[in-house]
Amino acid sequence: MQKTLILWDIDGTILHSSGAGMRSLNEALTTVFGLSGTFEGIDFSGRTDRAIVRQVFARFGIEHTPENIERYLDGYVALLPTVLAGSDARVLPGVASRLEEAAARPGVAQGLLTGNVRRGAQVKLGHHGLWDFFPVGAFADDSEQRNDLGPYALERARGHWGVDFSLERVWIVGDTPHDIACARACGARALAVATGMSSLEELRGHRPDAALPDLSDAGAFWAAIGA
Ligand SMILES: [Mg+2]
Repeated sequence: MQKTLILWDIDGTILHSSGAGMRSLNEALTTVFGLSGTFEGIDFSGRTDRAIVRQVFARFGIEHTPENIERYLDGYVALLPTVLAGSDARVLPGVASRLEEAAARPGVAQGLLTGNVRRGAQVKLGHHGLWDFFPVGAFADDSEQRNDLGPYALERARGHWGVDFSLERVWIVGDTPHDIACARACGARALAVATGMSSLEELRGHRPDAALPDLSDAGAFWAAIGA
């Protein structure tokens, strides 16, 4: 049987952290570097954590060294569970059911393709009990550029399932034009979902293979994926 691979974005697609990620990054500025200030104007949407760190360091005059990046991300991941616990972070409509359906279908495999660092992804998904759905993934640890991440996810999925997934059966599900671009960059299909910062209209302008207002309609989701 031909197998379909679904690669999920996290923020704005699976869940909404209600600013917990940004707040943890902001507080880590203080705990790690003794600095404080606003993140206004920093572009978070669809960016990898490492791309966000680059912007934060430029804004606050922190030297962009591997050591500083590591210290800052350690500080961020350490704060994240507490900040999440005090937030109204939530799983987006229909997602938990779609993940369960995907896990139950023998013809479907699923993993992550996210701008989060791996440890941050684990905390965010683990907060809602969703981490175990994803045996493989590509993360900001692999590259600062989201468009580089597809091949990492594909390679790990091929290794894990022993299947040479054909690209017309690989779907990247995400909430921003960056997710659509990322699918294009590795030859996969793009399913855009308007549960993040971008409207359905805007997403459609970037010509994804499919676009949905949210993931609450099982029929619409599986018809789009074709599995
Ligand atoms: Mg997203």
